[in-house]
Amino acid sequence: MKKDCKMVDRIANFGGNSRFCLQWKRPLEAGQEVDEMIGLCSLLINFELKDDIDKWVWTGSVDKQFSVGSVKELLTKILGSQGIYIPSRCRWVPRKCNVFIWRLSMDRLASKDALKKRNIDRGDQVCVLCDEEDETVEHLFTSCYIALTLWSIVSMWCKIPLILAFSVRDLLESHENIGLKGKKKEVIQGIVRVGCWSNWKARNEARFNNKPAKLEGIIREIKSILKNDEMGLNGGGDGIKKEALVELSSLFPKIFTIVVSDPF
Ligand SMILES: [Zn+2]
Repeated sequence: MKKDCKMVDRIANFGGNSRFCLQWKRPLEAGQEVDEMIGLCSLLINFELKDDIDKWVWTGSVDKQFSVGSVKELLTKILGSQGIYIPSRCRWVPRKCNVFIWRLSMDRLASKDALKKRNIDRGDQVCVLCDEEDETVEHLFTSCYIALTLWSIVSMWCKIPLILAFSVRDLLESHENIGLKGKKKEVIQGIVRVGCWSNWKARNEARFNNKPAKLEGIIREIKSILKNDEMGLNGGGDGIKKEALVELSSLFPKIFTIVVSDPF
């Protein structure tokens, strides 16, 4: 059979009905080849050739218009149907934090237990932040005393009920359960994400550079990111616009006083 033939060469029209005119060099072998042929025919059973020029059509949205948003919507739908948690995007944290949070929620961080599960590292499993319990993602971000203290400081800063999380998902959705709305809620969402990023950075410094993890260092890192232009507090990057800073600073004066005036 000619491998470069077109569909039109192999589908003939007999009195309005399409039929396959397959021209094999040899008969199909029973078993896999016949099964594959049946599968192919079932895919093409409703196929109808037209005289129009071929064109690509995006079938991922109702209006057939391709957009990055519709790809995201489709992926979210597919992953959601598989029971995979997908955190919403936070518009005012650096992209690196959003990507990190996505990896965290998908259980794609190289924590000690994750490496052990994949038979990559079966050595010491103790958490490098507290040196007390085994390191898992849930422990690092929700139950390690460093994380617990961090979230209590964030709660005090923002004057919100204590952030208590029993899972990573609880933590990433904590802004939904503190009685805030609108921008205030988004600020808490962003600070928790920056906190997770900073916590993981401290963990990596301790694990790979033997730098003892200290809460002050994590707080310093959070402030550094909050002050950074990349976050958009000064109008750059993918963060909030400059004029929104005034509004946000009135929402959470204590945080922004610390961020703006702190000499770290
Ligand atoms: Zn720990």
